[in-house]
Amino acid sequence: ADRLVRDVDRLMERADGLRRLEVRANADTPEDAARARRFGARGIGLCRTEHMFLGERRALVEAMILARDDAEREASLAALLPLQRRDFAGILAAMDGLPVTIRLLDPPLHEFLPDRTELAVRVASERAVGREPDARDTALLSAVTRLHEQNPMLGLRGVRLGLVVPGLVAMQVRAVAEAVVERVRAGGNPRAQIMVPLVDAVEELRLVREEVDRVLARVAEESGLAVDCPVGTMIELPRAALTAGRIARDAEFFSFGTNDLTQTTWGFSRDDVEAEFFSAYLEKGVFEASPFETIDREGVGRLVEIAVAEGRATRPDLEIGVCGEHGGDPESVHFFHAAGLDYVSCSPFRVPVARLEAGRAALREVLDSDTR
Ligand code: PEP
Ligand code: MG
Repeated sequence: ADRLVRDVDRLMERADGLRRLEVRANADTPEDAARARRFGARGIGLCRTEHMFLGERRALVEAMILARDDAEREASLAALLPLQRRDFAGILAAMDGLPVTIRLLDPPLHEFLPDRTELAVRVASERAVGREPDARDTALLSAVTRLHEQNPMLGLRGVRLGLVVPGLVAMQVRAVAEAVVERVRAGGNPRAQIMVPLVDAVEELRLVREEVDRVLARVAEESGLAVDCPVGTMIELPRAALTAGRIARDAEFFSFGTNDLTQTTWGFSRDDVEAEFFSAYLEKGVFEASPFETIDREGVGRLVEIAVAEGRATRPDLEIGVCGEHGGDPESVHFFHAAGLDYVSCSPFRVPVARLEAGRAALREVLDSDTR
């Protein structure tokens, strides 16, 4: 068994020596970050912050989104700030010395708001028995009805939420910056990056960036430490890929969100891949493989190639990665290697496979050029 372990280690070392693609992991807790590091991840390519707003913190998020006035919203943001700072400090500690890409909040809103039907039933049943419903329930129902969306995945998510809810971006960026300062003071080497989700247009990125730069500068002034935090964007909508040259003016890095990019390019909901019709459709032979698992080279892949070329034409040193599920899919890893990405980011358990495939992709390229 010891020999087998040594052989596997040697194989991984050889793959690591060959590959051009770096491998990072998608992780959003210190435990997952530490696990990813043990599997050989060289950083976090995507730290989703959504889960940090669920559980006990849900009430604060509700208060933030449904706030009746500025004071109410500011109070919930102020309560969230130290919690977020702790979240980020833990992850930065687990990945000390390696890049950690923290993505600003990107929730489909319905996952954070109380259930509209449940509230409506509660209010209606009180009225039916002649009682006045709870005032909080009626207020919530009216707010949730105002914010209701037919297609939450195409609605108030990502950068849109950050632009619409005052103070949200500033709170998250401050939490990142303060966590960086805390880690530096503790003798660490934190390398946080801030990533903006669901950008369609450079104007959105520019608006968020102004706020990010302002907060980073303020924390630097308060702490007396330079807070160096690259700001970049997800490329996960066709429009962003097609206008990548302009977007790169305001982004220090790109990360392809191939889950949303596949959904919006094909027009299939990513939440329906388990649905009966989708499995039946897979049998029809329209796709060679599910485009949500393996990169569709002709469509999504073309958008990736366009965005890489346009982005690098504007900014030759633009760092480019992928953090959708495809980042851990063996065949897709070969595609990303050929497309000239700098890294793939995948779930911690897929990191070893991604390392191997990245090595094989590099080797295959060398062998192909030798036989030509
Ligand atoms: C993506 O869309 O590919 C992505 C990584 O973001 P999320 O899955 O969180 O929407
Ligand atoms: Mg996405």
